[in-house]
Amino acid sequence: MDKPAVPLDQFVLKVHSRCDLACDHCYVYESADQSWRDRPLGMPDEVISHTAQRIAEHAAEHRLSAVQVVLHGGEPLLAGPGRLRSIITELHSALRGVCHLDLRIHTNGVRLDRTCCELFAEFGVKVGISLDGDRVANDRHRRYANGRSSYDQVVAAVTLLRTRQYRHLYAGLLCTVDIANDPMVVYEALRALEPPRVDFLLPHATWDDPPARTPGRESQYADWLIAIFDRWLADERPIGIRTFDSILSTLAGGDSATEALGLAPSSLVVIETDGSYEQVDSLKATFDGAPATGFDVFRHALDVVARHPGILARQQGLAGLCQTCQECPVVSSCGGGLYAHRYRSGSGFGHPSVYCADLLDLINHIKRRLPEVNTERRPVANRDLSDDEFGDLAAGYGSAAAIAKLMEAQHILCRAALAAIYQAGTSTPAVPAPVRAALHSAWSALTMTDRGRPDAVDAVLAHPYLRVWAVRCLEQLKGMGSGDPADPATDTRLAGDLNHLGAIAAAAAVCAGYQVEADITVPVLADAVHLPTLGRLVVSGGSPRPECQEAVVSIDGKAVSIRIADDCWEMTSADLRSGEPCAVTTFGDGGSASWQPVRVLKANGLRVALEDTDPYRDCHQWPAAARLAEAEVAQWQRYFQDAWREIERHFPAYAPAIAAGLTVLMPMSAPPPGRDISAAARHAFGAIGTALPADATTLALLIMHEFQHVKLGAILDLYGLYDPADHWLYHAPWRADMRPLEGLLQGTYAHLAVSEYWRTRQQITVGQEAQVAGERFAFWHGHTQDAIETLAGSGSMTPLGMRFVQRMRLSAQPTGAGPAPGNGTAG
Ligand code: SF4
Ligand code: SF4
Repeated sequence: MDKPAVPLDQFVLKVHSRCDLACDHCYVYESADQSWRDRPLGMPDEVISHTAQRIAEHAAEHRLSAVQVVLHGGEPLLAGPGRLRSIITELHSALRGVCHLDLRIHTNGVRLDRTCCELFAEFGVKVGISLDGDRVANDRHRRYANGRSSYDQVVAAVTLLRTRQYRHLYAGLLCTVDIANDPMVVYEALRALEPPRVDFLLPHATWDDPPARTPGRESQYADWLIAIFDRWLADERPIGIRTFDSILSTLAGGDSATEALGLAPSSLVVIETDGSYEQVDSLKATFDGAPATGFDVFRHALDVVARHPGILARQQGLAGLCQTCQECPVVSSCGGGLYAHRYRSGSGFGHPSVYCADLLDLINHIKRRLPEVNTERRPVANRDLSDDEFGDLAAGYGSAAAIAKLMEAQHILCRAALAAIYQAGTSTPAVPAPVRAALHSAWSALTMTDRGRPDAVDAVLAHPYLRVWAVRCLEQLKGMGSGDPADPATDTRLAGDLNHLGAIAAAAAVCAGYQVEADITVPVLADAVHLPTLGRLVVSGGSPRPECQEAVVSIDGKAVSIRIADDCWEMTSADLRSGEPCAVTTFGDGGSASWQPVRVLKANGLRVALEDTDPYRDCHQWPAAARLAEAEVAQWQRYFQDAWREIERHFPAYAPAIAAGLTVLMPMSAPPPGRDISAAARHAFGAIGTALPADATTLALLIMHEFQHVKLGAILDLYGLYDPADHWLYHAPWRADMRPLEGLLQGTYAHLAVSEYWRTRQQITVGQEAQVAGERFAFWHGHTQDAIETLAGSGSMTPLGMRFVQRMRLSAQPTGAGPAPGNGTAG
């Protein structure tokens, strides 16, 4: 008996049924199924609206939290930007308040230009591009009808997608395997384009029409893929490769990321330009009419389609496979391969894949190499550090270039988080409608500034507390589920947090000197309106505003006005950017208001924000200080200048990283007498929280110590150094309580710098001061060495993590035995 139907949550929309290329390996036009000949060119309005409604109904009925829709063809960009806009808008409006919409487009890339990218940026549409490798590989099949190459246009499209403005839309590359191509050349050509992910697709084939092979070589496709796998592994998996990642995941008991492998049920349906529902496209390779279901969006709900025998057949897991596959030792990773590849006329799909020998070899090869795989490489790893940069950081130091790469990776994470907040915030039913509307207009304002002045948006997004805010929003949105209304307190907190996107958009527009046509809603927190990186408007007196949690910001290029209920204050945007107190003009009964700029500390070319205004800064394990008086700022400035002079002069191996990456000092409340307080925050790259210590020398130590945490946090965002499943607690010699592995790693890395600080102080001071420094050096150095050995012996460091620990160990060798600071190489 068949298992019950699985709800459908992946929809491929054929928005245009023709193509501007004529690839000879195309499964749409060159396969057994020729149904495209009778379809309309484009998707008419009524098909689009019925499709969107069907998806929304189905998602609501099954309480789906998200659906994925892929705009496909033929070539979807032939539909043109106007048509694509109406399709995207229709989908968004049908699914708003129902579930999250993960919208993608798969294109051949030849028409992808800035206009398209702007449209996709506006709606967060991710772009996948087909490219078969280098020019030779690509030109082998992917040509125009007259034989002309498409290569240069496609690479230009990928280059556009890789620009800072659009990089967050870049989903990856789809490469159809041809064993006539050199696998290493293909891999290197694709890797050079820095795709977040590559999909290697086996050419469609069946037992009737088997893949091209050299006679006697039954697993030539496995050989081709294994050559790439081995290089990819040696390169430490610099990009995602879906085939390999899926096999690694299924071998570890996880899910496959592709329908071509594994036993997970398929939940995908295709909607053709005439509104017909079809099964997966790859069935076109089997026989004419194979993908047809006989259903369409006008007459049939998706529940009906989900029960179609052809779709049910791809949801049966092990039970749906032939006897040979069921008994196969790698079946949980292979799953019998792609459904279409099992076909033989006369007996249908009850066979192993026509690529069986290849799949078996490939999976067994990966299984053998499993112990060498670092399974924790992060998805932003294409900001890779070189071996030297990695080794230098692991030794405790770090060059400006290495820090720039860490910052770039943080920037990508931040943009991705922002897009995720917009997507989830506007499509989660429990988010109140006015908040969703405010999110939408804030997003429009932000993307408008991003189009003209991405540097202004980048400057705001680089603020350390922006990611702190983003993580907080995403956690709340995730906790809300798909439909239940939130309680009022959650509502208020979430509304305030989500409205902060307006504050980000307003700050970016002010930085760019832009006019914003729509008013932007921003939160009012503790009687202040915050513009991140710039400062805050603090309102007092005037008419009572007990209920007001929102303000409206209007920007006309020169003037910025902020309204709360009937009260209004105006400033000039140049004044807001100056970092100085500025005049505030009051309209109505607004009472007094003052602009509190973010002040800047300066020292020998270094500029660091003294951040005492941002509403998300209080995340450093010790309370943030209130706004500092001018006299206190002057004292910070003196200490900072002296501390930086000390770091530059006596700690030249640590200075370049700090100079490149420290952007914020966040004053903390005064600690008990005799204690120094400082802390980094895991998601606030570039920020150090500290209470002002007794002297500048101590401030230098606190900066060096905390910036180690800043660096290591960013490294851990890029690389898996330890097993996250390790839940043991470890002895940290400098603490009474036991620490988790990451806590021990963080402390050890920080104390490399602390040891270095005291060692140097011992050398540059005399008498009692030198004696105290010597004692402290012995204390921290001994503890750091002990902790390094605990890490090394934990059994939970990844191979890359062990390299990191080994490099720390070298650096922490007794004085004089370690390598020269700043000249570290990979261990
Ligand atoms: S670009 Fe895609 S749809 Fe167009 S001919 Fe090539 S494979 Fe077929
Ligand atoms: S390797 Fe061959 S026999 Fe084993 S599951 Fe895959 S297709 Fe079936």
